[in-house]
Amino acid sequence: MSETIIRLITTIIIHCSATPPSMDIGAADIDRWHRLDGYFKIGYHYVIRRDGTVETGRPLNRAGAHARGHNHDSIGIVLVGGVDEEFIAEKNFTEEQLNVLHDLITDLQLTIYRQQTRMVDIIGHRDLPGVAKDCPSMDIEAWLEKQDGGDLPPEKLHQWKTIRFKK
Ligand SMILES: [Zn+2]
Repeated sequence: MSETIIRLITTIIIHCSATPPSMDIGAADIDRWHRLDGYFKIGYHYVIRRDGTVETGRPLNRAGAHARGHNHDSIGIVLVGGVDEEFIAEKNFTEEQLNVLHDLITDLQLTIYRQQTRMVDIIGHRDLPGVAKDCPSMDIEAWLEKQDGGDLPPEKLHQWKTIRFKK
């Protein structure tokens, strides 16, 4: 990633689209829904489709609209899926999606570490204080524990493993 991130970023927030696996939606669909909700465009910075394709939403240097009170200093990533056919929360992401999420997160971590000399917190939407929903229907911290840190410097691997929301 060569893009210079001008905004100060402290947190990467993972969401799900709360759509069943049978709905193969992407950034264009979410963009349409968010505009209908009155936003000027899609509220997330990245969309990870069911097949693992990454689509971009808002430019990284524009604040998102995905987590009230935390949009100014965060990046929003949404995994398509996260509910069953009855729209009940379910961790049903594909292997491709989770592999791509890992690569995207490590890439962003490394970029922000190089440009802003900070490690960012990586959390699920539901890990934010005061959030009552299940989004993203998975335990991001437990999942991170099982990942490696990609190209992150070795001295930062411990932080990668223990990243959580601290405020
Ligand atoms: Zn969410």
